[in-house]
Amino acid sequence: MCAEPNDRSDDGPATRAVHAGEHADAATGAINTPVYRSSTFRFDSTDDLLAGQRGERPGFYTRHGNPNFAAVEAKFAALHGSEDAVVFASGMAAFAAIVLGTLRSGDRVVALADLYGGTRVLLEEVRARFGITTTYIALHDEKALRSALVGAMLLVAESPTNPTLRVADVAALGRAAKAEGVPFAFDNTFATPVHLRPIPLGVDFVYESATKALGGHSDLLAGLVAGSKQALAPVRAARKTYGGIPDPESAWLLERGMKTLVVRVERQSATSLVVARHLEAHPNVRRVFHPMLASHPDHALAKRLMPTGSGGMVTFACRGGLDAARRVADRVQLIANAPSLGGVESVLSLPLYTSHSYLSPAERAAIGVTDDLVRLSVGLEDAADLCRDLDRALRE
Ligand code: PLP
Repeated sequence: MCAEPNDRSDDGPATRAVHAGEHADAATGAINTPVYRSSTFRFDSTDDLLAGQRGERPGFYTRHGNPNFAAVEAKFAALHGSEDAVVFASGMAAFAAIVLGTLRSGDRVVALADLYGGTRVLLEEVRARFGITTTYIALHDEKALRSALVGAMLLVAESPTNPTLRVADVAALGRAAKAEGVPFAFDNTFATPVHLRPIPLGVDFVYESATKALGGHSDLLAGLVAGSKQALAPVRAARKTYGGIPDPESAWLLERGMKTLVVRVERQSATSLVVARHLEAHPNVRRVFHPMLASHPDHALAKRLMPTGSGGMVTFACRGGLDAARRVADRVQLIANAPSLGGVESVLSLPLYTSHSYLSPAERAAIGVTDDLVRLSVGLEDAADLCRDLDRALRE
């Protein structure tokens, strides 16, 4: 049977990134999806309206859906090889919809301890307010994981982790979750679908902060979740109920950014490894964290799960402690001292003051977040210029 013109299942990832979800505008032939800046949509008949209400047309009322949402959802689903995807106002709105759409009061979550700060805050919030508790498990502690999964209602993991870029064995987690019939939500923000497509490994909900590499230009906030239609039905319903939709303009910007995802992330992965190797040889750097360095504790696993690279992140510990790390952040010129990641411009931040400021010193120590860490998100600049900027900033 001939594939539908927009069925991209035979295509490679770069082709999917450009073409999936794209439909030439029927009225004008415009090659790009127009921005459907419309809160509502008109129908020719009540039957037509009812079809729209069942989701059989891309537009009905924008909190329910919008053609700009449909375009990025189709692209993300194609990139992950999933049946469906749902777009949200932010990565946090996406994770909130998974939690609020699938769990109820009294349920228990199992989560790897090394999670993005906002994710952990949300899990603590639903514990305090709704009695949805979380058991935190250390990375690679399979025994603790198996016993915690008994009776749990959701497994949550993230990899590579922030900021030490530890790598979870997503396939082993997927098998353990399947054995207990526990749905598995996985934050793939750092790897992106360019390097890791976890759905075939037993993940039910792959979610990403599209604010980062998917958008890629530091000009929007959005989140995306991929999975089967059945798994995503309550997540899509939660978006409608709680209203966590993006603006059509942001969805359009995201669609535009996603077209170049593969070339950007491949380049960022290659540059981040050059920068990591340069930093590893620097006398004022105590330690470098990059999954593609042989010195990384999860290197073999990272190579197996992500043979093409691990993304644009590299973290390093400065000799001289916090003072030295602050000096680097204050001295860089080309690299911006700014939170977030995945943009075309390189940015760095001190996890102590940004992503991990909400944790106690003991909690930071437990996941290896020391005060001397600098987290760098490599953009699209030349590696030599980034190394020169870092050398200047690392001088005593
Ligand atoms: N997951 C990870 C790994 C992140 O780094 C972030 C944000 O920094 C989020 C989720 C939340 O995404 P957003 O800021 O788009 O809500």
